[in-house]
Amino acid sequence: MDLNSIMIRRFLFPAMEKFKGNNIQKNIAHLKHSQSLTKHELEILQKFKLKKLLLYCVDHVPAYSSYQSLKREIERDPLQALHRFPVLTKQAFRQRSSDYVSSLMDEASLIPNRTGGSTGEPVKFYIDRHTVEYYEAARYRGLSWWDIQIGERCAMIWGSPIELRENKKLSYKLKERFLKNRIVIPAYDLNPDSLQVYIDTLNQFRPSYLYGYASSLYLLAKLMLRKSIFLNFIPKAVLSTSETLYDFQREAIEEAFKCTTINEYGARDGGILAYQCPEKNMHLTQENAYIEIVDVHTKTPVEHGESGLVLVTDLNNFAMPRLRYELGDVAALSAKQCSCGIQLPLLEKIEGREDDIFVTPKGNYVHGHLFNHIARNLDGIQQFQAIQHSKTDITLKIVKNEQFTDKQIQHFRNEILKSIGDIHLQVEFVNEIPRTQSGKTRYTFREFPLNM
Ligand SMILES: [Zn+2]
Repeated sequence: MDLNSIMIRRFLFPAMEKFKGNNIQKNIAHLKHSQSLTKHELEILQKFKLKKLLLYCVDHVPAYSSYQSLKREIERDPLQALHRFPVLTKQAFRQRSSDYVSSLMDEASLIPNRTGGSTGEPVKFYIDRHTVEYYEAARYRGLSWWDIQIGERCAMIWGSPIELRENKKLSYKLKERFLKNRIVIPAYDLNPDSLQVYIDTLNQFRPSYLYGYASSLYLLAKLMLRKSIFLNFIPKAVLSTSETLYDFQREAIEEAFKCTTINEYGARDGGILAYQCPEKNMHLTQENAYIEIVDVHTKTPVEHGESGLVLVTDLNNFAMPRLRYELGDVAALSAKQCSCGIQLPLLEKIEGREDDIFVTPKGNYVHGHLFNHIARNLDGIQQFQAIQHSKTDITLKIVKNEQFTDKQIQHFRNEILKSIGDIHLQVEFVNEIPRTQSGKTRYTFREFPLNM
């Protein structure tokens, strides 16, 4: 029995909440209650929150003050009224971000945050504590579906050198270890030689679950499988977050850790948007956010099952509300109901980032998955990254391992050309694939706008 986990759950966490005036536990209780509502009741709850937010926006958020005339429509049908507001791209938001701060907010109470930005263009924004507490509560509600509670031992496999700089401080380590029951393992210097040290640390700590970016967990799993070095215990789960969890990654992670993989879909600028239940479906956090899926070009809603851009309207963020905010992800909604009993709507699939999609010289779209599908069968390729500079120009960076052969790269090249067409494909062999500022690894990305 992990006494520290019980201490944290029963005493430390509630005491800390009281001291700081936080409401995470109260919010978890709300979400655990609302997950048992019917589909209709959930829709009413969501509409109620949306109405409140939209009325607030037209009255107190400069960017939306010109929509005052929609008030009656918002009162009558907030969902219909929402569609009168423009889709907000990251670029448009960046240009006049200060106009999105509520005029009622005390600047001192705002928490500055920023996204990593895959192409070096981070988005800066503010949130308030209230919103963050709802994000946290959504994560703990999702974890509760897997019998994982606040304070349970967790090992974070983290890849960002920036976050890890903080981690070197002793005070940070002690806080992580004893107040959060968590250790942080740096994945960015993970290599075949350091693997045994990582595994020894995990075996000693015996976390209930592991938590990390899909790419970091995958890298660790691949090394474990290659070196046949495994944990001497079975964790409850491995939790993958922040990046698209591809099937090939899930398979490797489950094979290496011998437990299930939970997918958490969220964004720094959108919160925890969906959580995987034990029936392997992704339930939307309907109480926290209104999600729309729209066509890439027309930005009009697509049918359930069809992939499109994800727009998010955070229903709790009154500090800096962003309506119909384009996250840059591509996903599809599902019309199905889950057999787990929870009525929260489902995402059918999460394709990945919008800039994962490549454009052929003929103007067709090819999803970045293509590269994963080819590379997964090539044992000599440790890691790769494909960057599309223009419709006819792609760079393929490759980290090879000892099983690499020239035949494999020829195969990789042929398959790409077969699918994308007549392009200039530059292959570069590198020692490592650079991570983004936030520590993520991008396997594929396009450097120019989709509608070029
Ligand atoms: Zn379910």
